[in-house]
Amino acid sequence: MQIERAITGVTTLGPGSRLVVWVNGCPRRCKGCVSPRLQASAPQNERDVIAFLRQFDLSDVDGVTVSGGEPFLQTEELLRMVRYLRGQGVEDILVYTGYTLGELRARHDVATDGVLAAISVLIDGPYREEENSGKGNLKGSDNQCVHIFQEELRARYEAYSREERAMQEFHLGGYTVAAGIPTAQYIAAFCRDEDNGGK
Ligand code: SF4
Repeated sequence: MQIERAITGVTTLGPGSRLVVWVNGCPRRCKGCVSPRLQASAPQNERDVIAFLRQFDLSDVDGVTVSGGEPFLQTEELLRMVRYLRGQGVEDILVYTGYTLGELRARHDVATDGVLAAISVLIDGPYREEENSGKGNLKGSDNQCVHIFQEELRARYEAYSREERAMQEFHLGGYTVAAGIPTAQYIAAFCRDEDNGGK
C-alpha cells in the first residue's frame, strides 16, 4: 500500500488519542485541497501494510484514522489494514474518502463492501472550499457526511464534534505536518507551502 506516513498521539482527527495513517494518491483535485502533496501516486512509498502497522503499539491508541489522499483507491490493501486493526482489538476505525457512500456502495465490489462492514465511521464526499464554513471538527466542508456504522460509538463522536476545530503540529525530520480539520483561512496561510495532514 502506498502510505505517506502514520503518526500516533493525534487528537484532532477523531476522538481520543489516535494513530492516523495518510495514504498516497487521489485523482480528485479538489480546489483548496488540504493535502495536495498526497494527490500524486507514490510508488516509492509502497509498503506491506501489515508490516507497517506492526511498528505501532495499538494497545495504546483510542482509535485509528485513515486519511489521504484517497484510501479507497487502494481498497484491497485498505481491507487488509482494517481487518488487521480489528484483529488487534482496535474498536474505533475512522476512514475519510472523497467518494460518497452511495458511490462506494454502487461499486458492488467485495473489497469495498468489506471495508464498509469493518470500519466504525466513514466521512465521505469531496472537499468543497466554498462550503468550508469552519463549523464542525470532523468534516472539512459542510457537504461531507459523517456516517457512524457502530452505534456504541455515536455518543463519543457526538461529544467530540462539539469541540472546537484545532490543528496539531508535528515536526518530522525537517518538515512540519499539521493534523486536523483546518479552516479555509488556515489552508490559505499554511497548506500551500508546507506539508500537512489535515483532511
Ligand atoms: S481534498 Fe481529499 S478528496 Fe479532495 S483532492 Fe484532496 S485528498 Fe483528494
